[in-house]
Amino acid sequence: MLNRQGRPTGPGFGSAAAHETFTGNRALMQEEALIFEIGRHDVTGVDLDEPAAFAPRLGGLERTDGIGLPGLSEPETMRHYVRLSQKNYGIDSGLFPLGSCTMKHNPRLNERMARLPGFADVHPLQPVSTVQGALELMNELARWLTELTGMAAVALSPKAGAHGELCGMMAIKAAIEAKGEGATRRTVLVPDSAHGTNPATAALIQFDVKPVPVRDDGTVDPEAVRALAGPDTAAIMLTNPNTCGLFEKDIVAIAEIIHAAGGYFYCDGANYNAIVGKARPGDLGVDAMHINLHKTFSTPHGGGGPGSGPVVLSERIAAHAPVPFVRPDGAGFALVEDEAGTGAFGRITAFHGQMGMYVRALSYMLSHGADGCRQASEDAVLNANYIRARLADLMSLPFGNRACMHEVLFDDAWLKDTGVTTLDFAKAMIDEGYHPMTVYFPLVVHGAMLVEPTESESRASLDLFIATLRDLAMAAVRGDVERFTGAPYLAPRRRLDETRAARTPILRWTPPQPVQEAAE
Ligand SMILES: *Cc1c(COP(=O)(O)O)cnc(C)c1O
Repeated sequence: MLNRQGRPTGPGFGSAAAHETFTGNRALMQEEALIFEIGRHDVTGVDLDEPAAFAPRLGGLERTDGIGLPGLSEPETMRHYVRLSQKNYGIDSGLFPLGSCTMKHNPRLNERMARLPGFADVHPLQPVSTVQGALELMNELARWLTELTGMAAVALSPKAGAHGELCGMMAIKAAIEAKGEGATRRTVLVPDSAHGTNPATAALIQFDVKPVPVRDDGTVDPEAVRALAGPDTAAIMLTNPNTCGLFEKDIVAIAEIIHAAGGYFYCDGANYNAIVGKARPGDLGVDAMHINLHKTFSTPHGGGGPGSGPVVLSERIAAHAPVPFVRPDGAGFALVEDEAGTGAFGRITAFHGQMGMYVRALSYMLSHGADGCRQASEDAVLNANYIRARLADLMSLPFGNRACMHEVLFDDAWLKDTGVTTLDFAKAMIDEGYHPMTVYFPLVVHGAMLVEPTESESRASLDLFIATLRDLAMAAVRGDVERFTGAPYLAPRRRLDETRAARTPILRWTPPQPVQEAAE
């Protein structure tokens, strides 16, 4: 028998089909169609009076046909969105080991602070005299960020890490142009292990990208940088700790080589959560570094709220930070909006950035204190190393079994000849109720699996996660291939054609042909 999704139901169809139900629901997990498929265009959930006769003033441009919105009653609407929300996997539902993304717990205290009407209800066009408290908060956040990183200045306004990269690189470009070297310094060095946003950022503002090979121990060799650096070097974009979960131990030497060549040092600070209170980028020779508030400082990611990616800047490029910025002014604060006479490269966002995220990040800093921020980093590193130590006998470590930073990187050498791939292994984790780790990134490692538990997981939570991965790993090695190649068996959707979804996305829903028409 086939169910409503056209999948076989009942026993006898293998382990997947044994779980199929008539409705497609799986106990509390409800199937849900698109809202356009369940809504009817000819009804609406609210009763509106017919508008009184009025003379159209749109010169014949007014719409004559229906608008095509799905009509649903209030209870139907509620069910639709509640069911969708129940398909979410988030940090509030389970361990989220997505390496390089730092999926931290979002403390509820932060949310409470962000909802205070004095912060939540301010409007960016209010007179500056009426938002002195908000500007003071921004100034205090800037003070924390520059103090923690040992940098001269910060541009708060970028709205994501990648946006911060763009901002930092535009400040570097402005510094190069101010020295009259814009025509010659056109190359940006980017290690092979970099996040894709690094070369993309450099290319977007017309730099030429030159890759730097990563040496056998997973870090960048200063001699490889020396061989590539020269009068054409605008900057290097280096991630530290890097995407292999390792601290770039030669970072100071690399900074010196770049500076001696007349270039600038952009540090991708997405992994800053590993070193807060332990190392200051300013002491390492960094000229610009973005800080993902949604990673290191616990503000929500993605669907939970907008990102925010402030960029800290060294003395060498601080003058080129974009407007607007807050400036203490007598007893209060001014907002510098006009770039004239500032050296600013311009403006990178409308208004001044994500106020709600500034409130959350500062709440995190003040509630943890400097010592608490440092401890969070230490615990994040400890947790990753605990996982490494407990899995190293089963899963292979590309750079040897040595200490990592806040994330641990496995490769797929241990899966050789098992018939199970990194992707299969990740999909089987879904059946066990875990969001998979980051897979196939960084590209320098074959079949990469990058695990980042963060600091807030308890020993018990880590032990269950480790036991689950051990159980899966032993099944893979034992030859229980079916558990993997068909996984996930228990998720609302199974294996999706991700390549096709990326290459030929269907971005617009079109109504199916009415049954009668289709039959004719
Ligand atoms: C997350 C991340 C970025 C991009 O940050 P977004 O806030 O997602 O734009 C850049 N580099 C690395 C290493 C990252 O992990």
